[in-house]
Amino acid sequence: MSNNDTLKDAGLKVTHPRSEILDILQANPEMHLSADEIHNKLVDNKQSIGLATVYRVLTQLEIAGLIQKNQFSDNQSSYEIKKQHHDHLICTKCGKIIEFMNDDLEKLQEKISDKYQFRLDSHVMTLFGVCKNGSCQNE
Ligand SMILES: [Zn+2]
Ligand SMILES: [Zn+2]
Repeated sequence: MSNNDTLKDAGLKVTHPRSEILDILQANPEMHLSADEIHNKLVDNKQSIGLATVYRVLTQLEIAGLIQKNQFSDNQSSYEIKKQHHDHLICTKCGKIIEFMNDDLEKLQEKISDKYQFRLDSHVMTLFGVCKNGSCQNE
């Protein structure tokens, strides 16, 4: 499916900025990009789309359920194309982000919610540490 169809299916009018930004995130499904990084890629692709527009479009795409916004640090959000639910491991040395999904962990969260008669809608699980990369762990 072309990303223009994806936009239409999500009820969004196809505009050049929406199409270009969705394209970048679709082309890099494993990446978690900040608005600045997305903007830089647009500049690399010779697209004159301002940073304010990037922010506005990202919010629209997020509300439409096409992308996921992550808050891995206080001062910056990162965006990824919406895919199956997963959680993240983040290396605080090099910034590497590893995606994982663990059924036991998912079930455990439901069990905890049940115990408190809490209706679980969603969760955010982000583990911070140091990745296996030697230069990260040796410091
Ligand atoms: Zn690392
Ligand atoms: Zn992710």
